[in-house]
Amino acid sequence: MYLFKKISGLRQFLESYRSKNRAIGFVPTMGALHKGHLSLIEQSLASTQCTVGSIFVNPTQFNEAADLEKYPRAPAQDLAMLYKAGCHAVFMPSPEEVYPQGLDTSVALDFGALSKPMEGKFRPGHFDGVAQVVKRLLDIVEPDKLFMGQKDYQQYLIVRHMAQALSLPTEVVVCPIVREKNGLAMSSRNERLSPEQREQAAALYQTLQQVEKWMGKHPPREVEQKALQALQQPGLEPEYFQLVDGQALQPVSDYESPTSIVACAAIWVGGVRLIDNMILK
Ligand code: AMP
Repeated sequence: MYLFKKISGLRQFLESYRSKNRAIGFVPTMGALHKGHLSLIEQSLASTQCTVGSIFVNPTQFNEAADLEKYPRAPAQDLAMLYKAGCHAVFMPSPEEVYPQGLDTSVALDFGALSKPMEGKFRPGHFDGVAQVVKRLLDIVEPDKLFMGQKDYQQYLIVRHMAQALSLPTEVVVCPIVREKNGLAMSSRNERLSPEQREQAAALYQTLQQVEKWMGKHPPREVEQKALQALQQPGLEPEYFQLVDGQALQPVSDYESPTSIVACAAIWVGGVRLIDNMILK
């Protein structure tokens, strides 16, 4: 496995694959890796000839300085995990390498309704930062396939929209959510939870499972209310719980007309914000 901190070295390495028409898969991450990240690496290894992982805690997607500062970092452990997984190359750039002075890396794209609800509403500016860093990393790596987790469902739709709107030559592949034994979606942020909080946080997945059963029996708004009530537990503070159309992210008003329906939620556990979702239809 090769580790690159500079764009020039990485591009030279990738050229040896590209010139032989070997497909390149890319898995961007913010590090503090877990089995969810590794599942993306595995998917890439299974369907491309060269897998590049990146570790970069992107400052432009954090809407709170304290959140950025507290974001878990474990570079040595991350590299060991990627090596063991069989990753071909890791890109670990500095902020200056990604955002050099004088280079306009902003993405002037209107994401319309996709960026307005849920994460867009509660984390203003977040998706502008996500689009900026993903576009910049795609420009650097130029992968054939980009692997993203369903865990960040809205982020996946935003990036897919960007790839389509800018006619990027990269296929965006979405990968299923990997969970802890108790159902809690794996997340780097879970590292900030105590063992007791991890158990409490499992209520989010249990509620998503409950919603699957309520669906069809109660109207969508009522299901959302019931879910929010179910999450009113000691140590938990729900932020939103929404049943949305799986393509446009608009609230669904019935269960028949949308072709896909996703339940999306964010909760606070102590000072840690967690998101999760479930594809219901
Ligand atoms: P992050 O490091 O949190 O920015 O995540 C990097 C990538 O891993 C994103 O595409 C996430 O959606 C994905 N990811 C994060 N957690 C999980 C999980 N539990 N299962 C599958 N993919 C995940």
